[in-house]
Amino acid sequence: MHPARYVTASDAGWDAARGAFNLLIDQRPEAIALPTDEREVAAVVSHARRNGLRVAPQATGHNAGPLGSLDDTLILNTSGLNEVSVDPSALRVRVGTGARWRDVVPQLSELGLAALHGSSPDVGIAGYSLGGGIGWLARKHGMQANAVTAIELVTADGVLRCVDATHEPELFWALRGGGGNFGVVTAIEFAVQPVRSLYAGAMFFGIEQTADVLRAWTELLPTLPEEITTWASIMHFPPDPAMPEAIRGRSFVVVKAAFLGSEADGRALLSPVRALGPGMDTFAMQPPVGLSDLAMDPRDPLPFRFRHSLIDELPGAAIDDIARTAGPGTSLAIVQFRHMGGALARRTPGAGARATLPGEIAVFALGVVPEPAAEQAVEEQIDGVLGTVARHRAGDYPNFVEQPADASAFFDPATRRRLREVKAIYDPQDLFKGNHHVPPAEPAGKLYAAA
Ligand SMILES: Cc1cc2nc3c(=O)[nH]c(=O)nc-3n(C[C@H](O)[C@H](O)[C@H](O)COP(=O)(O)OP(=O)(O)OC[C@H]3O[C@@H](n4cnc5c(N)ncnc54)[C@H](O)[C@@H]3O)c2cc1C
Repeated sequence: MHPARYVTASDAGWDAARGAFNLLIDQRPEAIALPTDEREVAAVVSHARRNGLRVAPQATGHNAGPLGSLDDTLILNTSGLNEVSVDPSALRVRVGTGARWRDVVPQLSELGLAALHGSSPDVGIAGYSLGGGIGWLARKHGMQANAVTAIELVTADGVLRCVDATHEPELFWALRGGGGNFGVVTAIEFAVQPVRSLYAGAMFFGIEQTADVLRAWTELLPTLPEEITTWASIMHFPPDPAMPEAIRGRSFVVVKAAFLGSEADGRALLSPVRALGPGMDTFAMQPPVGLSDLAMDPRDPLPFRFRHSLIDELPGAAIDDIARTAGPGTSLAIVQFRHMGGALARRTPGAGARATLPGEIAVFALGVVPEPAAEQAVEEQIDGVLGTVARHRAGDYPNFVEQPADASAFFDPATRRRLREVKAIYDPQDLFKGNHHVPPAEPAGKLYAAA
């Protein structure tokens, strides 16, 4: 018997343990378990099952919002499982599922390797990978979920399983996109790319140039090869003394990119945007670790509202409306547009349940809500931004969904049915509460009947 540490409401560390990245989320589970190895994880799962509790696996709480009520639920916090090992010759990394991208990316960079991480070094590798994972190399190399080569997890029966393309392949398929619905993942192995250096950086333009820059950026997109991934953002930085003086308390429209190629080719690709005369330009050849914080995401927990949409196009009329809604005086901190397509739109052999994502552009808007009175304006302005592109909506990206949602909309009917059948085999009692719920197939599906 390997007992894990539990924190409950009567313990001193309760508030720290139940905290989420979004400070508007008030997580109130039955208890929080803090196992340090897979045997402790198995003991926690058995304890929950025996006591009629559900289990919500959680690494960092960066996507705690969709979980909703945690009544009769145990949060199983995996932050104690954070070992990292890199096999450079095999281009493979194995991490415990408490590891965050910041625990891996710098050491990979030293070895001339790059992972398919996203915008924040503080996001957990587990939730990011199980939900999809789109980052700076996504148009060339696709989603992180499909770079995963093996997963170790404890299922509802308390058994530790190692699954990959040949061992329990249906479960391996379901985990890569179906998220935390099938068990507690204890370790993930994934492929990384050989990258010594790339051309990457940011061009900062005055906020008054928003419409011109966004127009130039959208016109550029169809001309770009998959080797380049670019994001355009309207950013309003707070007057925080910890921020560099050049951006503190100021607003910009910013075009960022990562290009797997030379400086000369990268400059040529971005020249129509650069011709608009950025006030600051940080583009340079750099090692992959330079991508870690290129997005300048907030590092510390904060109270915010966030919504997104995947869209087929960003027309000129929408650009003008968005420039007004998210311009000076807005309640929004950031509106971001990410170029999608390329490998994100292609199904690779052996892909998981999240094989592709629709849309040419992912757009999101985020507003900080320091006090309840600020919430209405933020919500209205998020509505304003997403409303202008509603006609062009192509779908959702579940990792960017921050509130409880009907997850049936996130998969086509055949994928959804297959996920539910896998769930019925491995978790027929619905013990595990993933951030986006996949219920067991009912009545028992073909696979379930055979199990
Ligand atoms: C600041 C910020 C930046 C982001 N940038 C990007 C980005 O660039 N690209 C992108 O694709 N996404 C991005 N995201 C979204 C991010 O991928 C999701 O929020 C993701 O779910 C976070 O994973 P986590 O493990 O850190 O969070 P958690 O809240 O700890 O976990 C989220 C969910 O993942 C599942 N899960 C986590 N650990 C386990 C486990 N061990 N076993 C089983 N299930 C588990 C559970 O269902 C859990 O509810 C960002 C989010 C934030 C807040």
